[in-house]
Amino acid sequence: METIDGLPPESRFLLRALAAGLSLADAAALLGLGEDAAVRRLRSAAAQAKLSVPAMAAGDAALLSALAPLRRAAARAPTRTTATACPGADVTTAFAAGRLAGPLLLATAEHAADCPHCLERVLAEGPVTGPPEPVPAPRRPRRVATIAIVIALLLGALLLATFV
Ligand SMILES: [Zn+2]
Repeated sequence: METIDGLPPESRFLLRALAAGLSLADAAALLGLGEDAAVRRLRSAAAQAKLSVPAMAAGDAALLSALAPLRRAAARAPTRTTATACPGADVTTAFAAGRLAGPLLLATAEHAADCPHCLERVLAEGPVTGPPEPVPAPRRPRRVATIAIVIALLLGALLLATFV
């Protein structure tokens, strides 16, 4: 049976967050990582678990599908015990909001990776980035058209005023 308990802390956290339904971008953001850095960690996690690692060019979807056994393992309860006590609500809130850095960030991520209770607390306050904002439809052409109509009307009025 696959287990993620032997993987490095950041990889364990990423896999637990993915198994909980977070997007790769959200899972990476919780660790203060860019998506590229998260992908590198997941690729080495797959290699460490002796899974076949798809080519870089195959994209995130191929990597996530190759990671399926580890994502399933990450959905199961951890077997390792946490090295630290459960952090306070202020720390988990700051972590979920992306306001932690350095050793405290890593320690909190490692704890949450191995403590289902704290993982749930952290993820309940996330995801930090959420789905992308819908891009508003460009409005400029309509505004340009309106301005053109107004100018035409003004010119017409001017011409009328000149010749009448
Ligand atoms: Zn805990």
